[in-house]
Amino acid sequence: MSASVSDLRSVFREDLLKGQVALVTGGGTGIGLGISELLAALGAHVVVASRRPAHHEAAVSAIRARGHAASSVALDVRDHAAVHAVVQEVAATHGRLDVLVNNAAGNFYAPSATLSPNAWKSVVEIDLYGTFYCSQAVHPVMKQQGGGRIISTSMTLHYRGWPLMAHATAAKAGVDALTRTLAVEWAPDRIRVNAIAPGPIPTEGVRKAFAPPADSGVPDLFAAAEERMAEYARTGIPLGRWGTPQDIANMVAFLASPAGDWITGAIFVVDGGEWLAKPAP
Ligand code: NAP
Repeated sequence: MSASVSDLRSVFREDLLKGQVALVTGGGTGIGLGISELLAALGAHVVVASRRPAHHEAAVSAIRARGHAASSVALDVRDHAAVHAVVQEVAATHGRLDVLVNNAAGNFYAPSATLSPNAWKSVVEIDLYGTFYCSQAVHPVMKQQGGGRIISTSMTLHYRGWPLMAHATAAKAGVDALTRTLAVEWAPDRIRVNAIAPGPIPTEGVRKAFAPPADSGVPDLFAAAEERMAEYARTGIPLGRWGTPQDIANMVAFLASPAGDWITGAIFVVDGGEWLAKPAP
């Protein structure tokens, strides 16, 4: 099972992001928490933004307890005005905003034939609209300060199609398109825009949300039985293990650092080779 980023030795220099400010949406749980923890451990002040204080406040307490800098803000990324207000406040408080991580999502399995308009709207609004709203809001701040990095979490399920995930796959395909378009459009402003497509990472969020209906024929990759989990990792993931939040956080740190200075418009698959090897559902 995944270890906390803070339990693991980072391969990055401890002051890699010293003096920088990072906004991580959905940064209080799962993959987002791993990203928040690593960016803070590398010297950034991390602003964790999500809807529920139980998520973002707990994350900030844990990060501060390790001596790193973080703060939190309540934000629903579907709310365009609120997104712009939060970004303005972060920029005013810290005088800059260097890294935006668009990580918030609200995915769940649902049959397309009966997917309600609200369910469709909600997922597309969080995953795709939220990514656009946040990216658009940071643009003037990053442009004015001479550059910045936007990194979004995508997925791999839309590469071949994945039943019961029409809403999320459509939204993440949009995130990929947005990544490429904004990368080209905002390169003159020295804003690098990239995305990461994680493979299966058994966070609490996906364990709760990704239980496919029993009669759907879709495998429950996150079924609780450890034996089944281990078997899937052995047979379904070429590198032989599940992903961890740290696997994704490492790529975020790389892209946020000067090592990524000539990288924009790229979508990095970080999945142990899973999607290439996965049989069609
Ligand atoms: P998670 O633990 O469920 O985290 C989702 C986060 O998004 C939560 O912190 C949630 O916080 C926040 N959020 C949801 N709706 C929001 C809204 N409207 N406004 C602001 N924040 C909102 O999920 P995860 O597994 O870590 O996934 C993180 C990202 O990786 C997602 O983009 C997901 O699509 C992607 N991904 C995950 C996997 C995987 O296997 N885990 C695979 C591929 C891609 P609040 O409830 O406090 O708002």
